[in-house]
Amino acid sequence: MSDVLAITEHRRGELRDVSFELVTAGSDLASQSGGDLHLAVIGGDVDAFAEELALDGVDTIHTVAEGDEFNHDVYVQAVTALYEELDPTYVLMGNTVNGLDYAPAVAEQLDLPLVTDAVGLENEGALTVTREMYASKVESTVEVDAGTAAVTIRPGEWDVTEAAGEPAVEAFDVEIDDSRVRSRVTGFEEVGSGDVDIADADVLVSVGRGIEEEENIELVQELADALDATLSSSRPIVDNGWLPKDRQVGQSGKVVTPKVYLAIGISGAVQHVAGMKGAENIIAINTDPDAPIFDIADYGIVGDLFDVVPELIEQFE
Ligand SMILES: Cc1cc2nc3c(=O)[nH]c(=O)nc-3n(C[C@H](O)[C@H](O)[C@H](O)COP(=O)(O)OP(=O)(O)OC[C@H]3O[C@@H](n4cnc5c(N)ncnc54)[C@H](O)[C@@H]3O)c2cc1C
Repeated sequence: MSDVLAITEHRRGELRDVSFELVTAGSDLASQSGGDLHLAVIGGDVDAFAEELALDGVDTIHTVAEGDEFNHDVYVQAVTALYEELDPTYVLMGNTVNGLDYAPAVAEQLDLPLVTDAVGLENEGALTVTREMYASKVESTVEVDAGTAAVTIRPGEWDVTEAAGEPAVEAFDVEIDDSRVRSRVTGFEEVGSGDVDIADADVLVSVGRGIEEEENIELVQELADALDATLSSSRPIVDNGWLPKDRQVGQSGKVVTPKVYLAIGISGAVQHVAGMKGAENIIAINTDPDAPIFDIADYGIVGDLFDVVPELIEQFE
């Protein structure tokens, strides 16, 4: 039996999607061996977060009421103490800015092997972690024979768990050594235009190099407005300076999981697909019937965007 301890994430008073993905990954992993899933909520409004995280597959939620926002030193101390108390087989964290900040320190302190950026987890006697390398062109499997491990999971790879459950909620008292808390959050500054977060959008209209010129972006913006959607893009659009960096989807941009992703004049390069393949519905418009984007699209229109987009705007308006 392998128990799993998954560490949830929140920012500015809201649980991050990866928390709900950690529930899915953690409960799958724990149930493969009949183990329990323990969730940890550290900092912020832990009681409200625990209510939101009362989900199917969760056995116990441990709340640690320490601070408002993520803090490296608090997380390291809290996770280490929880591990020593619960003795889980596996610790799961998000492969996020925060997760990658504290996971290595936790692994070092607990002398655990750390596998980062997991896209698949299997527990068949030993833990097997699937990772992707070289811009998702190569898949590697890592077999962990240490018996126990810390793993960070890639956001957007697991479904979010929504079904309600009835976990126990327990306040976990951890003595935080303040002399070892060497940083604190003093404020937030959004990078780029800062007015939108494409990772939060339900509907994304995404534009690629097929748009040809900067002034043509207005056309795709009109479609986004007609759909009440958010505008995003592939990398060349950002490299050209036509949209800010925070609109870029992909390996070196943001990972998005909207309900609808409309890819307009985007070929579907692996580095782009790495950021949007988790979308529920993918619709592609492209003149090239062999464009790789059609391999992952649920619906495709083979056509010239300069004909199709105005028609769509008219229909939706
Ligand atoms: C390390 C690394 C990281 C990267 N990270 C990212 C990343 O995060 N995000 C990202 O997007 N890319 C990234 N890239 C770049 C990536 O490899 C591709 O070059 C890029 O995604 C291509 O963008 P595109 O699809 O807009 O352009 P193209 O590949 O040039 O595709 C344009 C498409 O538009 C179609 N088209 C042309 N005219 C029309 C028309 N009139 N109507 C309809 N369709 C038309 C064409 O058929 C073509 O399929 C990265 C590359 C590297 C090496």
